[in-house]
Amino acid sequence: MSIEDNIFSIYDKLVAINPKIELVAATKTRSIAEIKLAIDTGKVASCGENKVQELLSKYNDNFTWDFIGQLQTNKVKYIIDKVRLIHSVDRFSLAKEIDKQANKINKVQDILIQVNSGKEESKGGVYLEDVDQLVDEINIFDNIKVRGIMAVMPKLDDEKELGQIFDQVYAKFDKLKTNQFCYLSMGMSNDYLLAVKAGANMVRLGRAIFGERDVF
Ligand SMILES: *Cc1c(COP(=O)(O)O)cnc(C)c1O
Repeated sequence: MSIEDNIFSIYDKLVAINPKIELVAATKTRSIAEIKLAIDTGKVASCGENKVQELLSKYNDNFTWDFIGQLQTNKVKYIIDKVRLIHSVDRFSLAKEIDKQANKINKVQDILIQVNSGKEESKGGVYLEDVDQLVDEINIFDNIKVRGIMAVMPKLDDEKELGQIFDQVYAKFDKLKTNQFCYLSMGMSNDYLLAVKAGANMVRLGRAIFGERDVF
């Protein structure tokens, strides 16, 4: 199927579960031409890039961009004027730099707290039990708004186990939920229906939209 057909078919399934779902296209390795096909469907809220260099090389202000990957503190200054939402804030020092750079350009930057829900050492993100504290610490900044949680999942074949982790993340999100803290970014190509059933209202999809990647 084409990129457009993939999106329409995915979107139908998503809105059947949650009419307010936001679809973020994970656009790493994809060309501007491919991304444009996705955007032109009108169903994609934003393009999520996970590397600063790649975001900068593709950036144009016709599209809306999110940052979804691990972010080095010294690179915040390159993307601060380009992104709608940073999904991957997992430490105070990073938030402090985002606040500083956002302040310089008079912006209030929306961010999500990245949770390492499977407690995997190779992955960024805070543990669920540390989310409250980090949110409290970041809330002192005038140039940041904490808008919710982003979860990266462990690779699990067991749907039941995966479902339990989704439920744990949702429970934390639900406790903290307000008008402002209202996004749960959870679900990728392998597991997005399960994630949205568990309460995610933002999914980040790459392969389900664009097909397999040649390089990861
Ligand atoms: C690549 C990526 C995705 C999407 O992965 P797919 O399996 O291609 O859907 C989602 N989130 C992040 C942070 C990514 O880097």
